[in-house]
Amino acid sequence: MVVVVDTVSAQPIRPRHPEKAARPDALSPKKPEWIRVRAPTSRGYADTRAIVKENGLVTVCEEAGCPNIGECWDKKHATFMIMGDTCTRACAFCNVKTGMPEALDLAEPDNVAEATFKLGLKHIVITSVDRDDLADGGAAHIAATIRAVRARCPTTTIEILTPDFLRKDGALETVVAAKPDVFNHNLETVPSRYLSVRPGARYFHSIRLLQRAKELDPSLFTKSGIMVGLGEERHEVLQVMDDLRSADVDFLTIGQYLQPSLKHHAVMRFVPPEEFAGYESVAYSKGFLMVSSSPMTRSSHHAGDNFTKLQAARAALSR
Ligand code: SF4
Repeated sequence: MVVVVDTVSAQPIRPRHPEKAARPDALSPKKPEWIRVRAPTSRGYADTRAIVKENGLVTVCEEAGCPNIGECWDKKHATFMIMGDTCTRACAFCNVKTGMPEALDLAEPDNVAEATFKLGLKHIVITSVDRDDLADGGAAHIAATIRAVRARCPTTTIEILTPDFLRKDGALETVVAAKPDVFNHNLETVPSRYLSVRPGARYFHSIRLLQRAKELDPSLFTKSGIMVGLGEERHEVLQVMDDLRSADVDFLTIGQYLQPSLKHHAVMRFVPPEEFAGYESVAYSKGFLMVSSSPMTRSSHHAGDNFTKLQAARAALSR
């Protein structure tokens, strides 16, 4: 028997989003003046980058092409993305690489803890790719990372931004038992847009995940976010607020969707700042403890300061 080994294209250059490569280009309107992105050039940015690279870590700030990276990294606020840089889902809005991920890095929990210590973070946000290939969706690895950070940095508060653990029984319980301070899971968009924006997910499953997290540990803060500009209607955003309040979610973030490439979902509309302010007022009136709603709001933007406000809001309620 002869085995022919292809030594030329054994490692072909692979597109970042192979499932999107054949799609027609999706054209978005020109960015308005209120969408501002600062070039990442500061000393603080360079220091943060060096610590991230030294510890071999992946950040969602880089992978998602976040427009706030210059501001956040200047203050040493980075959001670690664990379980690799390759996601098993292929959401139409997301810039994270898609495909079959590699095995988990068992040193990663300690590396995240070490980087948290070196950055001197009072509050850390840890997110991950979706790992539908793992029996527990990566829940044990997330829990191990929470415990490692807790051991290395006992005063640092921990916010975890999780996948939806669809069809992963017991995964949520594993993560909640590790006692993060904030359990965050983003809805991303209104239910009517799921099929074209987040086809691998189920809206009511995500709502139930958030509700169940709070039921399992009522001391947790729960948090969720959506992007606007994806074709949603205002009344649908208000319905999402009601659904999240029914699930006892504490903190809502709303930000403008930005298109990572022409192969991603188009921006259907740039929502003006005053509409974001309107959403914020309505959300507070519906009972959220914290709301962040602005064009540049991202789930982890100002997460540390917002966590302090969240604690104060809950304390004020119980007085
Ligand atoms: S907003 Fe979040 S994802 Fe974006 S740079 Fe800041 S910490 Fe990173």
